[in-house]
Amino acid sequence: MLSLTKLVWLGVILIVVWNFFRFYEKRRAFMDNGRVDTEKKGGEMDDETETIAAHYCTSCATFTTAKRCDCAD
Ligand SMILES: [Zn+2]
Repeated sequence: MLSLTKLVWLGVILIVVWNFFRFYEKRRAFMDNGRVDTEKKGGEMDDETETIAAHYCTSCATFTTAKRCDCAD
């Protein structure tokens, strides 16, 4: 015969299992989205590195984003 305590425990276990699977699915979806986001971000970063032309200044031995370093005039 089912007692109230057993029913409560059954409910608790069901809630725990339900939350566990919800958390697992959320995490899996999040990880999939994160992977896509990082791939997207990586592509964007590659585009940025392509658009930003880095020039090496021989005078001050640094890379500059400008076409010509200010110090090298
Ligand atoms: Zn320079």
